[in-house]
Amino acid sequence: MLLKSNIKDLKNILKADNVLSHEEECYCYAEDAGNFRASYKTPDVVVFVETTEDVQKVVRYAYQHNIPIVCRGAGTNTVGACICEEGGIVLNFSKMNKILEFSPDDMTMKVQAGAVLGEIKKVAESEGLYYPPDPSNFKVSTIGGSIAQSSGGAKSFKYGTTKDYILGLTVVLADGNIMKIGAGTIKDAAGYHLSQLIVGSEGTLAIVVEAELKLIPKPEASAVITAYFDDTQKAVSAVNSIIKSRVFPSTIDFMDKNSINTVEKFYPCGLDTEKECVLIIETEGFKISMEHQVQLISKALADAGASGIDCAYDEKQKESLWTARRSSYAATAKLAPDVITDDIIVPRSKLAGMVDGIQSICKEYGLQACIVGHIGDGNLHPQIALNMESDEEFKNCMEAKAKMYALVSSLGGALSAEHGIGIEKRAYVEKFLDKYSLEYMRRIKKLFDPTGILNPNKIFKI
Ligand SMILES: Cc1cc2nc3c(=O)[nH]c(=O)nc-3n(C[C@H](O)[C@H](O)[C@H](O)COP(=O)(O)OP(=O)(O)OC[C@H]3O[C@@H](n4cnc5c(N)ncnc54)[C@H](O)[C@@H]3O)c2cc1C
Repeated sequence: MLLKSNIKDLKNILKADNVLSHEEECYCYAEDAGNFRASYKTPDVVVFVETTEDVQKVVRYAYQHNIPIVCRGAGTNTVGACICEEGGIVLNFSKMNKILEFSPDDMTMKVQAGAVLGEIKKVAESEGLYYPPDPSNFKVSTIGGSIAQSSGGAKSFKYGTTKDYILGLTVVLADGNIMKIGAGTIKDAAGYHLSQLIVGSEGTLAIVVEAELKLIPKPEASAVITAYFDDTQKAVSAVNSIIKSRVFPSTIDFMDKNSINTVEKFYPCGLDTEKECVLIIETEGFKISMEHQVQLISKALADAGASGIDCAYDEKQKESLWTARRSSYAATAKLAPDVITDDIIVPRSKLAGMVDGIQSICKEYGLQACIVGHIGDGNLHPQIALNMESDEEFKNCMEAKAKMYALVSSLGGALSAEHGIGIEKRAYVEKFLDKYSLEYMRRIKKLFDPTGILNPNKIFKI
């Protein structure tokens, strides 16, 4: 609990109207998009930072007074990564959202941590360039949050994730000093790659204030192909057939039957609700190559046993399909008062077994699950609709999740592909990480944050 004098000091350090301290105001920042029962507290104070100097001043103050700091972008992470378990200061980046430099010649962009991905993409595209990482909620999520969670999205199959687009970072360290990481050049082999340590660290090592991003040329054209299957195994093997035909789609996404039906009710766009699953494949390149790519992909899909293969070239049609796919979380939320999503990844060769496993585990526990995912990567998002107020449903959901993670582990997968650990999966980290790697992570945390003020106890407990 912060003292009144701490709040007064913060109001002197920053503009007073950038400091919220009434409980009702702070309560709005107590949760994120994670949905679970946790013993978290309302933050004692929420401060809006506008400049790197603001961040430095607040961090220095927190360091001197041993106050926890939790950074917050748009609050859309799904694992409780930006909730306050111990109260303290929420550092809100929504006013620190500028694009600082855009160099089309160098294909780079320097942005503040609160810049929204949708805006970054829009500005890049105005000069024919492309920032590919695209978490489904890119229209609101920030670059700082995406760096902290190592966000991916549908386009990871071809283009990789946030980690592949970070050329440099400016971070504020736990004691308030500033560290510049990376030269901002396309290649940089000078010393340890510290920026990769910050990516995925969930705000536990340092606070990102600026990021220098790599951009690539925006492909001239794209097509979106939908293909239905009566059997998940066939859908998975279709991915290999496509690769064998030497096309490299940017996205190979998946929706199971429950998702197709749920999304079609919520956002009707003509999906075939009779089929077991659908693949949504996007391929990009020169206009002149599109038809050829679509032919090769369609043949590979048909050879793998697909039916109802369709292709959209038209922007409106493509957007409608992606809106449907991106709406799956919101659509699932219509089935029950609450929805709990997950994020797991297995080698692609084990995917069909994973989908079957999730379906039978959910059936065993009487849970409604819609499974979507970035199947090209082996990444699945089971979305479970339930009533969190029901002790029984909640207990069943937690037990079902534990079984899913055991299955992921037995299939050689990872606990998170792109959403991170936060507090939600912290209890499982020891089961998935090698004991020395976890020990070194703890030592790295101590080195960066000796007094433990930065997003305490997220990912693992010290
Ligand atoms: C409907 C929906 C769909 C989604 N789809 C995808 C998807 O397809 N792929 C995917 O990868 N993710 C997805 N996500 C998760 C989410 O998009 C990402 O985690 C997101 O990028 C987080 O951004 P944010 O600005 O909301 O961060 P927040 O949730 O505010 O914060 C996330 C973490 O970053 C830390 N943080 C924030 N700013 C900073 C900073 N400046 N310095 C240091 N740490 C900081 C926070 O403390 C916290 O630990 C989805 C979420 C929702 C709700």
